[in-house]
Amino acid sequence: STPGGPRVREEKIVVTVRVRPLNKREQLAKDQVAWDCVDDHTIICKPSIHERAAQPASFTFDKVFGPVSLTETVYEEGVKNVALSALMGINATIFAYGQTSSGKTYTMRGITEKAVNDIYNHIMNTPERDFTIKISGLEIYNENVRDLLNSESGRSLKLLDDPEKGTVVEKLVEETANDDKHLRHLISICEAQRQVGETALNDTSSRSHQIIRLTIQSTLRENSDCVRSFVATLNFVDLAGSERAAQTHADGTRLREGCHINLSLMTLTTVIRKLSVGKRSGHIPYRDSKLTRILQHSLGGNARTAIICTLSPALSHVEQSRNTLYFATRAK
Ligand code: ADP
Ligand code: MG
Repeated sequence: STPGGPRVREEKIVVTVRVRPLNKREQLAKDQVAWDCVDDHTIICKPSIHERAAQPASFTFDKVFGPVSLTETVYEEGVKNVALSALMGINATIFAYGQTSSGKTYTMRGITEKAVNDIYNHIMNTPERDFTIKISGLEIYNENVRDLLNSESGRSLKLLDDPEKGTVVEKLVEETANDDKHLRHLISICEAQRQVGETALNDTSSRSHQIIRLTIQSTLRENSDCVRSFVATLNFVDLAGSERAAQTHADGTRLREGCHINLSLMTLTTVIRKLSVGKRSGHIPYRDSKLTRILQHSLGGNARTAIICTLSPALSHVEQSRNTLYFATRAK
């Protein structure tokens, strides 16, 4: 552990799976549960269902959270160490990946809430440092970037290449949080602003990516001989529905192009797959989409990533769930 800092594990990419409970509609339709979480790391397709599919039946991850799991547990066991590394100057990104209605937004909101609690607890317990927390929020829809803290911004902020900062979003509002209450308020503005977009344009949440970005800066107070300062970004990313990703085989080759492929999502899956392969993977196509350009400095390199893959338990969604598990397997 680092003196004065939280303990953080070393994994660069932590991949977890969370299965939500059957919802009312699925229960009423007598949909079956297709998956068993057999232990903390393993999810299997139920044998009676798997016989019909002739596909891998068992998948292993850093953690598997079943339908009765609490968001608190998902945070503690799958996210916390990655999120808190941003307090030590290490960029971090938390993703929710899964098909529409699998629980991405539900999970990401809870996770963000828990992370904010932890960040302010850490600040309270670290009187020797001064912290500044800034927040910005954006949505990417059809490769257009919209500011979630500025309802006047329209739908197409430009990305610029800054020689020092890398890709920056032109005119994106960044607010400094006075305290945790203020930060929560600003996060709720981003969430409300995203919903405004959803009602205006039918079903945007299945197509849009939301990023809430915290910039956490701290410096040691005076009368210390080494005035060390840390700065890092922590991104909470609620992705477009994974049914918008290109379908790929377990080995990563393309299966078919859906008709509504989302460029940012497809590029992200390629980038994550290449990062997980490591040095042998060659060119990483960060620049091919808005999402990956914006996140470039928070992915790969020294950065840490937590991917929570959300799953519907229902038999009627078994193919999409399997695709999500293939993605999760390749991300490891
Ligand atoms: P997505 O963002 O992936 O489209 P949502 O987060 O909106 O999906 O979840 C779809 C519905 O399921 C919502 O009504 C949500 O409250 C509910 N839900 C999702 N995950 C859970 C969970 N783990 N426990 C209980 N309800 C959940
Ligand atoms: Mg959602």
